[in-house]
Amino acid sequence: MAWDFETDPEYQQKLDWADKFVREEVEPLDLAFPHLQFVPLEGKRREAIDPLKEEVRRQGLWATHLGPDLGGQGYGQLKLALLNEILGRSSWAPIVFGCQAPDTGNAEIIAHYGTPEQKERYLRPLLDGECFSSYSMTEPHAGADPTLFKTRAERDGDEWVINGWKFFSSNARTAEFLIVMVVTNPDVNPYKGMSMFLVPTNTPGVEIVRNVGLYGEPLNDGSHALIHYEDVHVPAEALLGGEGQAFAIAQTRLGGGRIHHAMRTIGQAQKAIDMMCERVLSRETAGSLLADKQFVQGYIADSYAQLIQFRLFVLYTAWEIDKYSDYKRVRKDIATAKVVMPTVLHDIAWRAMQVHGALGTTNEMPFFTMIHGAGVMGLADGPTEVHKITVARQVLRDYKPSDDIWPTQWIPKKLEAAKAKFAEYLELEVGNQ
Ligand SMILES: Cc1cc2nc3c(=O)[nH]c(=O)nc-3n(C[C@H](O)[C@H](O)[C@H](O)COP(=O)(O)OP(=O)(O)OC[C@H]3O[C@@H](n4cnc5c(N)ncnc54)[C@H](O)[C@@H]3O)c2cc1C
Repeated sequence: MAWDFETDPEYQQKLDWADKFVREEVEPLDLAFPHLQFVPLEGKRREAIDPLKEEVRRQGLWATHLGPDLGGQGYGQLKLALLNEILGRSSWAPIVFGCQAPDTGNAEIIAHYGTPEQKERYLRPLLDGECFSSYSMTEPHAGADPTLFKTRAERDGDEWVINGWKFFSSNARTAEFLIVMVVTNPDVNPYKGMSMFLVPTNTPGVEIVRNVGLYGEPLNDGSHALIHYEDVHVPAEALLGGEGQAFAIAQTRLGGGRIHHAMRTIGQAQKAIDMMCERVLSRETAGSLLADKQFVQGYIADSYAQLIQFRLFVLYTAWEIDKYSDYKRVRKDIATAKVVMPTVLHDIAWRAMQVHGALGTTNEMPFFTMIHGAGVMGLADGPTEVHKITVARQVLRDYKPSDDIWPTQWIPKKLEAAKAKFAEYLELEVGNQ
């Protein structure tokens, strides 16, 4: 029997250290340096943050998603899940621990598909936490359906020339390079006609037209870029993986990215429960504590139940990824976690906000940021609806149609079969009556 829900004591010690470190040293960065996570470190910010990264390295918790050959510990996804649910409490924590999206996914595909030269140029600084990257896939007219993408790269001697538009390329404004998904052969099935390119952001012709902000951010001062690629010349060596391989590469990248978001979402939802519980034990109304009201007890029970199911499922999925080392094989469960994630975070954050009364709705508490985050989780890396389609298709794969007009479980037919199977005993029973 190999089922086991225990963390080995040595790693638990590291998690306990990380929990304290994030609460005391990292969470304050969210307030001291808001919205600066993806701005390269300099001056006083570097002085404040470099020693924290150093401490994480000393503890052996830097970039734990990577194998030792790439500077990580090779802990795998299950251990990363346990760590990420701590890091999910703070927007700075993934940076301080060297495992922030979208750079983790980008590093993963360069490690997997990159040439030695590409690894040296792009992967090394990424792993050292000294540069940022951007993944440029969504287009203004199409996101959920990548077969509609139009951005085009055409071969010109030893070069490729890229033309088109991309939308919502996160962190492009501070990224050293972009990973761009483009059509390289419009005459074949889109699944075979698209390729990925590594494009330095300062390449002539790459123009960030607008930096779209999320809700609450100033207009045109956000981190999700609308980019115009106009006659962008890149050498043949800028191709990542083979020509026509973009979809396979995207799956490698997005599979990991999605489950990492789910891991961090556990941390956010747990933080909302923590705040909810503290509040209901602190606030009295209509003759008793909020904690004594049955409606409120319902909020707590429902929140605990939702989170514990989600958490166990995410840990199980992480365990599957470690076991099979094959995102494709675990696709159904990654998509399921992606589907469940926004609802879990939304529902729990909403209840936590509600029990805080008016204060809960203000910008002095983090609930609306969490609720907005839930909305983001329902879109980033693909909308919930599309992932539900994936889940349903994968589930249906294990079934076949009934070979009769009546369902296999139709009771009259099963009864006949049961009677035939046990005929000799049934006759005896009848005879005895
Ligand atoms: C915070 C954030 C960060 C992001 N970062 C990046 C990034 O770094 N790089 C990048 O390339 N993209 C990024 N994206 C874009 C993201 O991948 C897209 O938003 C997503 O794929 C959906 O595309 P769309 O926004 O064009 O919506 P559309 O494709 O227009 O879909 C809109 C809605 O239509 C419905 N819908 C779509 N397809 C179906 C279907 N088959 N069946 C039923 N309903 C459907 C869904 O309700 C969906 O939300 C980011 C998005 C967010 C919110």
